[in-house]
Amino acid sequence: MVLNELGARINSALQTLSRESVIDEKAVDALLREICGALLESDVNVRLVQQLRLNVKALVNKDELAASANKRKVIQNALFDELCRLVDPGVQPWVPRKGKQSVVMFVGLQGSGKTTSCTKLAAYYKRKGMKVGMVCADTFRAGAFDQLKQNASRAHIPYYGSYNEADPVQIAMEGVAKFKKDKFDLIIVDTSGRHKQEAELFAEMEQIAAAIKPDNTVFVMDGTIGQAADSQARAFKESVDIGSIIITKMDGHAKGGGAISAVAATGSPIIFIGTGEHMHDLDRFSARPFVSKMLG
Ligand code: GDP
Repeated sequence: MVLNELGARINSALQTLSRESVIDEKAVDALLREICGALLESDVNVRLVQQLRLNVKALVNKDELAASANKRKVIQNALFDELCRLVDPGVQPWVPRKGKQSVVMFVGLQGSGKTTSCTKLAAYYKRKGMKVGMVCADTFRAGAFDQLKQNASRAHIPYYGSYNEADPVQIAMEGVAKFKKDKFDLIIVDTSGRHKQEAELFAEMEQIAAAIKPDNTVFVMDGTIGQAADSQARAFKESVDIGSIIITKMDGHAKGGGAISAVAATGSPIIFIGTGEHMHDLDRFSARPFVSKMLG
């Protein structure tokens, strides 16, 4: 079930509730059954769905609700808040500041949209007047430097990389040192991806992080991977200190569950979502507008 279908199903369940002549426990149970079923089909983790059900039920059982003139509204609001809670860990996202020389390291599996997202973020902050540079510390995949070079050139972003140096830690250190010396505001370091959550990948990420001491680490996750989101996000969280999340491919067949699982597994905020292959297809993420949009 894609994201807008999930929203449509939640809306339809709420409309059914609106048509009920009495809002009793049976009606609320039917509503929750339908909504929780839709969330599970959208790959939201079963524990989180259960928690949402319990929270809404607890509210409905309160005496205030029994006395409330507008039970439907109270239930609708509770549900909206619960959905927001699923995509908002309540942590203020880190943001780079002009003149502060920040280093941001990108991590994620190959194909997740990491390099594309590096360029999108670089272009975003360049438009805000910052001096931004990109470093290619991916020596694992042949062609990685060429791809970053091409993306960066298209966006007119200065870049650093090497065709000869095989050690990604060395390249990351050199690139960061060069851009720092040249007084760049934001230095974005793209790392290697690999196909699976392999031990070598995590060891490499840890070494790069130890060498460049990033101010923030961005975990890039493909929004279309379904139930795999939970274990993937957990695996990355164990190895690196994930500060922010970018969920990509939200323009395609993404379900809401991937984003929700990534937040739950890492406790980190989603900062942007990727909405296409183009450099400017990047939307700032904010929980309430996201949920409003999902519900149409
Ligand atoms: P990396 O291996 O993680 O660096 O992934 P890439 O940046 O090379 O992206 C893999 C593929 O996903 C490319 O074809 C990108 O154009 C595509 N891609 C990345 N982000 C998005 C997105 O937000 N939406 C869509 N539709 N495609 C994306």
